[in-house]
Amino acid sequence: MSRFWSPAVRALTPYVPGEQPRERLIKLNTNENPYPPSPRVERVLAEFDRTQLRRYPDPDSLALRQTLATVHGVDPEQVFVGNGSDEVLALAFQAFFCQDAPLLMPAISYSFYPVYCKLYGIDYRTIALDDRWEVSLEAFDADNGGVIFANPNAPTGHGHSRQAIGSLLERVRDSVVLVDEAYVDFGGESAVPLIDEHPNLLVTGTLSKSRSLAGLRLGFAIGSRELIEGLERVKNSFNSYPVDMLASEVAIAALDDEAHFRDCCERVMATREWSRRELEALSFEVLPSQTNFLFVRHPGYEGAALFAGLRERGVLVRHFDRDGLRDFLRISIGTNDEMKSLVEALRAIV
Ligand code: PMP
Repeated sequence: MSRFWSPAVRALTPYVPGEQPRERLIKLNTNENPYPPSPRVERVLAEFDRTQLRRYPDPDSLALRQTLATVHGVDPEQVFVGNGSDEVLALAFQAFFCQDAPLLMPAISYSFYPVYCKLYGIDYRTIALDDRWEVSLEAFDADNGGVIFANPNAPTGHGHSRQAIGSLLERVRDSVVLVDEAYVDFGGESAVPLIDEHPNLLVTGTLSKSRSLAGLRLGFAIGSRELIEGLERVKNSFNSYPVDMLASEVAIAALDDEAHFRDCCERVMATREWSRRELEALSFEVLPSQTNFLFVRHPGYEGAALFAGLRERGVLVRHFDRDGLRDFLRISIGTNDEMKSLVEALRAIV
């Protein structure tokens, strides 16, 4: 605490990201992709003309938005890009959720959402998950100044169908519904096709997971022109150039390589199902997952003990020391060899 901090900054509780360890560990704690990005990325990096860097990048990121629009079957004016979807989310909270009525969000979801609420002074209410650890969409009908949830949800892994989200949007018409699709490419169903019918729907996505570009920091939002314009108003009052030249070119190359993308997602999903079977054989309860991670618990061991045992054996997973989540581990899907090591380490512990 410093006397130089603004009063509002003194009151913040910042988000704590998963550790990026210095020692060599099998790293299954931040839902990164175990496979490298498209080989086309290598070509872009090798051929990039460094003299370009003396110029500012395109503040509107038009070429990248055009590419994302093609991939998602929308118009470039329905696409917004930013420095990771965390940044896009932050701008969206400011653009849409600073309202009189509270923002609604699941009680268990991406833990950055309440942090943004604190940052912007947004009042929020949480909705309990149902007894199958699924987000209860019906509860979002309550009076609200906005709705946000991750679909599929993190860290639980369950995703709702497009139809279920469509019927939520039939009921919630007067506030923005933000669907965070960070993990949708690993078996979820995207709500993007609903944006033409629902001007209050904003879908966010990222190249960090399914495109193997967490280090690049590239996220996006897709929605009606009026929502995109709202995001642009905030962005242009904050940072004119959130996406640098190199990030833009690398992202375009990755997005153009559909075959590599599909192949990586399929491999991750196959490894996920193999891992599920192995963990169930060790008596773990494994929640159904449409993501690149598994949320698991063991009837005989506390989450913290399993986390510590794995770490001693060189495997890093994520443990949330929070009511309701304490028993669980969130395990990102690595390569087949990494998951075999994880299973071996757990077998030794339990
Ligand atoms: N949404 C969810 C649900 C996430 O888990 C993450 C990754 N921590 C993000 C958004 C942010 O991803 P990024 O900023 O890398 O795009």
